[in-house]
Amino acid sequence: EVGDLHVTRGGRSILQVPSLQIRGGEIFALIGPNGAGKSTLLRALSLLEAVPMRYFLDGRPVRLPESALRLRRQMGVVFQEPLLMNASVAANVALGLRLRGVGRAERAARACTWLERLGVGHLRERRAHALSGGEAQRVALARALVLEPRLLFLDEPFASLDVVTRHPLIEDLRGLIRGGGITAVFATHDFLEVLLLADRVAVLDAGRIVQLDSPGSVYHAPATKTVRQIVGATRALVAVLPPPHLA
Ligand code: ADP
Ligand code: MG
Repeated sequence: EVGDLHVTRGGRSILQVPSLQIRGGEIFALIGPNGAGKSTLLRALSLLEAVPMRYFLDGRPVRLPESALRLRRQMGVVFQEPLLMNASVAANVALGLRLRGVGRAERAARACTWLERLGVGHLRERRAHALSGGEAQRVALARALVLEPRLLFLDEPFASLDVVTRHPLIEDLRGLIRGGGITAVFATHDFLEVLLLADRVAVLDAGRIVQLDSPGSVYHAPATKTVRQIVGATRALVAVLPPPHLA
């Protein structure tokens, strides 16, 4: 939960969130046009960037910045670009475990398990830079999930993937998040991803949350012109292929 979050850049207010509660175990989406403030909000929530706000975890106030490093160990973050280092896939996934002092054999076993869970176990010896976009993003997800985070933050994780690659990944990711009891917050500009993955969605426009509800409610009753535009882009697709949330 965050409160009184206010970010200014160059004297301009770019994000204002009086109050936002994410529920334990839910998959929460942030949607909005480019520049709406999605990445800024994700960086604040994941404590990657210190911004003025009140912050609560499990209902208890968190002292920032003192407690940020400790809490960040319970969080995983995945970006639009996989940002893999030039090493083997297995080494990329094991790195976080190595930094936490996990021994070599256990590192290898856990990296292998998570690569298998993401359907890329066969790529573990491959150089990370020799992967396709979809494969690399699966490896980036394995690298985050191998640390077994309580909270997972994803900034447009599917945006550079084509639809054929994207949809199976969304299905797999949903299963892993649910199976791990993880609380996840992801940013997107594609409402179809919201319908496929999210329990609730906040629509950001010019730095403010203009609607917060279930994907179905937002779809059926968009509150502003921007929300109508975001939802509208999905209507034609949904007519052909109704996602489970709207059935
Ligand atoms: P989104 O992820 O929704 O596209 P961002 O959170 O990246 O939006 O950005 C929100 C707004 O803040 C944008 O108008 C962007 O130009 C502005 N912004 C972000 N970072 C900076 C910065 N370091 N300096 C100035 N403006 C910034
Ligand atoms: Mg962004």
